[in-house]
Amino acid sequence: MSELRDGGVPEQCFICGHLALGLTGQDFYLAPYMLGQDRSFADDRYGYCHLRCLQESGLAGKWAAGVSDHFCERWPDFVELDDGDRRIHASFPARSLTVWSVEGWFATIPFSILRNSGVESAAIEPSPGHRLFAVASVVGFVNGPYEAIFGDLRGGPQREIDLLHLLEEIGTLEHILEPRLLEGGRIERVPSDNTALDDEYRAKHFLEVADNVVEASALLINRATGWKRRRR
Ligand SMILES: [Zn+2]
Repeated sequence: MSELRDGGVPEQCFICGHLALGLTGQDFYLAPYMLGQDRSFADDRYGYCHLRCLQESGLAGKWAAGVSDHFCERWPDFVELDDGDRRIHASFPARSLTVWSVEGWFATIPFSILRNSGVESAAIEPSPGHRLFAVASVVGFVNGPYEAIFGDLRGGPQREIDLLHLLEEIGTLEHILEPRLLEGGRIERVPSDNTALDDEYRAKHFLEVADNVVEASALLINRATGWKRRRR
C-alpha cells in the first residue's frame, strides 16, 4: 500500500533541502502540474516547501500567479477577498477549503475545522483580527520514508513527541513561518482513516486565520453543503 503514499510527507523542502512535515499553514505541496506552460521560473524545483522558504526565496508571487488558474479550474467554487489578493476554494468531495494568497500562503483546511468559530489557547495570543484553530496534520506514516525521525512513537500509540523539539532536532525550526503557532504542539501515532493503510503520525497544532477568511469560509461551506442537498 505504500505506493499510495509516494510523494507524501515528510519530504525535502525543494528550496532549503530540509524536511517539510506537511504542517497546515506552515508547509505546502506545489506540484509541476499546477503550473501552466511557463515553468521556467521554478527551475525544475517542485514539491513540498516550507512557506517561509517560499516567501524568502522571492518566488512566492510567481508561484501564486503560476498556480492561480489551476486552483480556479480544480476548485471553481471560490470567493475572493482583499481585492483579489486572497481566495478561498471549496472542494466538496474532499470536504476541505484551499486558501490561496498572492503573498504565497497556501493551506488546505477541512470544513470541520472552519465550521467552528475558533479555539482559545492558554499559551498563544492570536494576532489582531485573527482567530486560532486547532488542526491535525498528517506528517508521516509507519513504514514510510524518514520514519526514523518518529522513532519515539514506534513503541505504541500512547506516546507523543513535542513538535517544536522535533523540528529543532531535524534542523527545520528556522524554516518555519510562524513557530509560535506550534507552541505546545504534539505528534501522535494514530490509526489511518483508511483501515487498509498503516498507522499515521499526526501533528496537532494551531492555525491562525483572518476573521474575514473565517466568515467567508462559513458562507462557502454552507453553499457547498446546500448544493449537495439540492442534488439529492
Ligand atoms: Zn525549506
